[in-house]
Amino acid sequence: MAGQGGPPGQPGGQPIFILREGSERTQGRDAQNSNIMAAKAVAAAVRTTLGPKGMDKMLVDSLGDIVITNDGVTILKEMDIEHPAAKMVVEVSKTQDDEVGDGTTTAAVLTGELLKVSEELLDRDVHPTIIASGFQLAAKKADELLDSIATEVSPDDEDVLLSIANTAMTGKGIEGTRDKLARLCVDSVRSIAEEVDGRMTVDIENINVEKKVGGAVEDSELISGMVIDKERVHPNMPKKIKDAKIALLSTAIELKDTEVDAEIRITSPDQLQSFLDQEETMLRNMVAKVTGSGVNVIFCQKGIDDMAQHFLAKAGVMAVRRCKKSDIDKLAKATGAKNITNLDEIDVTDIGSADMVEERKIGGGNMVFVTGCENPVAVSLILRGGTEHVVDGLERALEDALRVVGVTIEDGRLVSGGGSPEIKLSLKLHEYADSLTGREQLAVGAFADALEIIPRTLAENAGLDPIDKLVEMTSQHKDGNIYAGLNMHTGEIVDMWEAGIVEPLRVKTQAISSAAEAAVMIMRIDDVIASKGEPMPPGGGGMPPGGGGMPPGMGGMPPGMEGMY
Ligand code: ADP
Ligand code: MG
Repeated sequence: MAGQGGPPGQPGGQPIFILREGSERTQGRDAQNSNIMAAKAVAAAVRTTLGPKGMDKMLVDSLGDIVITNDGVTILKEMDIEHPAAKMVVEVSKTQDDEVGDGTTTAAVLTGELLKVSEELLDRDVHPTIIASGFQLAAKKADELLDSIATEVSPDDEDVLLSIANTAMTGKGIEGTRDKLARLCVDSVRSIAEEVDGRMTVDIENINVEKKVGGAVEDSELISGMVIDKERVHPNMPKKIKDAKIALLSTAIELKDTEVDAEIRITSPDQLQSFLDQEETMLRNMVAKVTGSGVNVIFCQKGIDDMAQHFLAKAGVMAVRRCKKSDIDKLAKATGAKNITNLDEIDVTDIGSADMVEERKIGGGNMVFVTGCENPVAVSLILRGGTEHVVDGLERALEDALRVVGVTIEDGRLVSGGGSPEIKLSLKLHEYADSLTGREQLAVGAFADALEIIPRTLAENAGLDPIDKLVEMTSQHKDGNIYAGLNMHTGEIVDMWEAGIVEPLRVKTQAISSAAEAAVMIMRIDDVIASKGEPMPPGGGGMPPGGGGMPPGMGGMPPGMEGMY
């Protein structure tokens, strides 16, 4: 730290400043402690939400909007976290969400626990590099072990896919309707799964989720095709069009306002009439350009003039205006239509097709259904529920489930849930630690202990005694029941495969590897230097350069002044 003594040969010399005034700096164990503490605090914040019996959090943002959830990544994203080390835990959770879509709480909780056990090792004077390399060894071994206990499943095994969807959605506050949603989820993912170069791929983007408040959750439905939450612009337009020829417009069917302010002087009624006539003709021509190409359905991203609406209705065209760009893009994919930016350049190849475009009443409003699309890999899920919070909750739960079912179809590999793989890994890693020599074995052992946080937390969150449950699980595993886990609904230790509590392998491998990486990264930091944007005002706060008032030769700094240089 600047100012601590002087360079040799400068007894009692001036302190040396290497950082701009106002920068904050913490070093050594202080830095480690504060980082570890912050990261642990983040993990602790989501810990109570783990598992089907986890509690919910109510998050209120600065605008007063409320989200009630127990989804790890949602909570962490909504929390306004500032501490840099704490942010790293949030990143772990986000990565988990991006890569797998589930296991976000698990990843954060595990990161916190890895840091907790590393703190104990640091206290015992094990050097961070040793802990880091031990954790890396353990993480690699865990990956191999998980791979060896994973079970292959066929993407056609409906029952297993339903179990996975169910496991991913348990505890998301939708218990009564979970089976229905699991069914919808599996059906929709299966209908969009494609085989590309001999591998199954699932692009969840192909599932278009539309929320509609009103009605019951049971009314939610899967539509093979697209659903747009809009209605036709004019009541005289047809409600239903068979053999639809679809144009997607990103330009308005309106007369453009002049670029510059122009004034038109009209001196006689005839002139006014001819002016209006001309406008009408122009709009008529615009409409004719579209209908002339055989189009009978228009989805327009911009506006459609009242008079143009009337002409379109007369021509028997169904038109929808102010569509979302994302909907237009999805419609393009589904119907094979191309986005038209200029009415003068409509070409037959730009026109898409579908067996049927129809406006239907859903809940309180109308929606436009595009079914029998050219490309069958496009489906829509209409989620229904009593209130906005309900449908939002459904959407979040479903998002996880869609992703895990997709991952399962892609990878075809599963592990059991309910803490069973963690117990198995913990036992095996302890054996592995014993086979190592040197101090790394301490770190590998600590890693093995840390994994127990998952079954322990599941038991705690179910209101069960964590020690009893852990002991029972461990002894069953030792007896060879490698799928023994905690069924949180009954509180019993049972075979997780029989109970249908299964998860994709990728959920576990990703959570363990990113938690280990983050823990290692946080633990290895022994110096935090935070610069301040603005230098401190003269005389305010810190000491003036030159260390006025510091007695010559004084090594340390007065309390409260650390970190000011
Ligand atoms: P995450 O964000 O990590 O997915 P969840 O709250 O979804 O957090 O909890 C996932 C954990 O709950 C996993 O370890 C999973 O195996 C476990 N789990 C899910 N359903 C059950 C159940 N019925 N009994 C016991 N554990 C379960
Ligand atoms: Mg989950």
